[in-house]
Amino acid sequence: MPQAVMSERDIFEYASYLGFGEINMEVDHSTGMHAIIAVHSTKLGPAIGGTRFVHYVSSNEAIIDALRLAAMMTYKAAICGLKHGGGKSVIMKSGEIKNRKALFERFGKFVHKLEGRYIAAMDSGTTTTDMDSISKNTDFVTCKSDELGGGNPSSHTALGVLRGIQAAIKFKMGQDNLNNVHVAIQGVGNVGYFLAKLLHEQGAKLTVCDVNHDATRRCVEEFGAKEVDIGAIYDVACDVFSPCALGESINPKTIDRLKCKIIAGSANNQLSHRSLGEVLHQHNILFAPDFLINSGGLIHVAEVYDHGNHEVAEQQIINLYNETLQIFERAQAENKSTNLIARTIAEERLNE
Ligand code: NAD
Repeated sequence: MPQAVMSERDIFEYASYLGFGEINMEVDHSTGMHAIIAVHSTKLGPAIGGTRFVHYVSSNEAIIDALRLAAMMTYKAAICGLKHGGGKSVIMKSGEIKNRKALFERFGKFVHKLEGRYIAAMDSGTTTTDMDSISKNTDFVTCKSDELGGGNPSSHTALGVLRGIQAAIKFKMGQDNLNNVHVAIQGVGNVGYFLAKLLHEQGAKLTVCDVNHDATRRCVEEFGAKEVDIGAIYDVACDVFSPCALGESINPKTIDRLKCKIIAGSANNQLSHRSLGEVLHQHNILFAPDFLINSGGLIHVAEVYDHGNHEVAEQQIINLYNETLQIFERAQAENKSTNLIARTIAEERLNE
């Protein structure tokens, strides 16, 4: 459902539609904290998911965002075989931040009150330093700074996306390598930059766009990428279109412009509506399900939080190649869209 339509919806109606769960809210006057923690499911284990710190036009929009993302985390954890459920938190950003450290420390108290039903992680607008601040008041937090045994998950996410792209190239083009494969990346921030680096090392040709010209310049200089305007990225004739900026970039206005064979990127909720998966299937564009191939960061933070084992996490991320291929094969055998098959597999695991 498009964001604009969703934000007009009744919160409880939307929560029921998504199969919630628990929604917690807390306000703290001294730090200015307006925070929401959405716990979608703890069926497979404690809910895990990022803490967003971004501007929202309304509290309604912030709650809807937390609900939507928490529900997706349940599917993401389930499809990866993690013993975790889905959760997400949002701290609304407004005006000037008086004391960022105090704000995140206070948020840590809020997380702690849930007694481990929710584990916080880094997300848009938050840093490893913020996770360190949260950890002052709770152990239920990951992605702390390297010195505290954590780290930024973006490079692990990028590795998972690379594995998804490799699986898609194998399935669609029968090719075992990425030599001269043309990838158009929308957004070269944290994940997009690491992905561009990995793709360049594998011999891929890159086209990039970003609202931040320093970010694209870095890719042009370091990887010989071609830069295009943000509005032109959908029209680039390429093998792979890789959305690594915002959600809903595949929508009724953009879908007919695509000139790619494959869509595979890191952004969450790339399709503005699930039914667009079927449209892509009809158009013979292979869609690598976003919540599967962008799960490398989650796999890493969950494994390191649960067992402290970086090598096991890395191996699981590398294995996303096989997981992705299996989804393509089942979708082909059943003549269904790949996103539908991915959801079905996640639901099967949740119901086991
Ligand atoms: P980021 O904020 O570091 O990077 C996003 C980039 O997109 C920025 O450089 C931004 O300038 C650019 N951008 C914004 N609007 C744009 C537009 N209209 N056109 C082109 N570029 C635009 O975020 P990130 O951590 O790299 O995450 C990228 C996406 O992947 C997000 O949707 C995020 O939710 C998702 N994701 C990230 C992780 C992770 O580990 N960081 C994990 C799973 C999913």
